Amino acid sequence: MIPFDFEYYRPESLTEAVQTYETLISQSKTVLYYSGGTEFLTFSRVNQLYADAIIDLKGIPECNVLELQEDQLVIGSAVSLNNITESNLYPLLGQTVKKIADHTSRNKISIGGNLHSRLIYREAVLPLLVADATVKLTGNDGETVHPLKDLFNQELKINPGQFIVQINISKDYTTLPFVSLKKTKISKVGYPVVSIAALVKERQIRAALSGVCPYPFRSSEIESVLNNSSLTKEEKIEKAGTLLPSPIIEDIQASRDYREFVFKNTLLETLEALEAAQA
Ligand SMILES: Cc1cc2nc3c(=O)[nH]c(=O)nc-3n(C[C@H](O)[C@H](O)[C@H](O)COP(=O)(O)OP(=O)(O)OC[C@H]3O[C@@H](n4cnc5c(N)ncnc54)[C@H](O)[C@@H]3O)c2cc1C
Repeated sequence: MIPFDFEYYRPESLTEAVQTYETLISQSKTVLYYSGGTEFLTFSRVNQLYADAIIDLKGIPECNVLELQEDQLVIGSAVSLNNITESNLYPLLGQTVKKIADHTSRNKISIGGNLHSRLIYREAVLPLLVADATVKLTGNDGETVHPLKDLFNQELKINPGQFIVQINISKDYTTLPFVSLKKTKISKVGYPVVSIAALVKERQIRAALSGVCPYPFRSSEIESVLNNSSLTKEEKIEKAGTLLPSPIIEDIQASRDYREFVFKNTLLETLEALEAAQA
């Protein structure tokens, strides 16, 4: 049970959502946008989150789009992870989000909620970073479009009152050879010890990782090593391990040493699978 009362709003347009937010803020209320709602419910039940009001984005048509529009795949922020997988419009994204949580939760969890999650994993960002996705935001300054890599630095950096409307991916990326691998502590469902999404574009590997460091990342230094044809696979993996953007995490899922071991094995598996996918 949620231990506090809150107001619930379900706007039907982007303008109504932004206006509702501004009105509530002007009344000194704590306001949260809401998509799948699973994180709001989980954290507020245990008193780790509080809101006077929530604004549910699921009633806004633009946030529910999932389709090819000319040369772009457009994904509304309120689209559920299961719908993304079932559409098969961007298989790397579909396969990656299929490994988040259990099937029932994925009916609710939205891509916007995953990208702006307070948990460190945010695995949906991985296939979007390697595909140079762009993000449409709205807020009291109107609609703006940004490369995801400019907004996502360890976490999604958006202003209070802004929310993701849609994510755009060039159609070209949706048919490239790819690999999505996730290693968990025990069962298929669980937070990642290591999660990787990789694709090959113009014979160059692009890879993004979650679970290894305290945030998801794509690293140009690691990619140059993976694409250095003068190195053996083993050398690439050793060198990549020295180029992580922060120390490997140690938590209930895995010790640092075990995580490093899994990271290296998963990278080897990725290189081999990408080779096979291109053969
Ligand atoms: C059982 C379970 C297992 C999980 N396992 C994993 C896992 O393995 N890997 C992983 O990456 N995650 C995992 N998660 C985390 C999950 O992906 C996040 O909690 C995610 O935030 C839930 O999405 P939601 O749509 O339900 O979020 P909500 O509760 O709706 O929102 C979460 C946050 O995102 C913000 N938000 C929502 N929509 C938008 C938007 N359009 N624009 C900007 N901000 C927005 C909200 O304000 C809130 O701060 C798991 C969650 C559960 C319940």
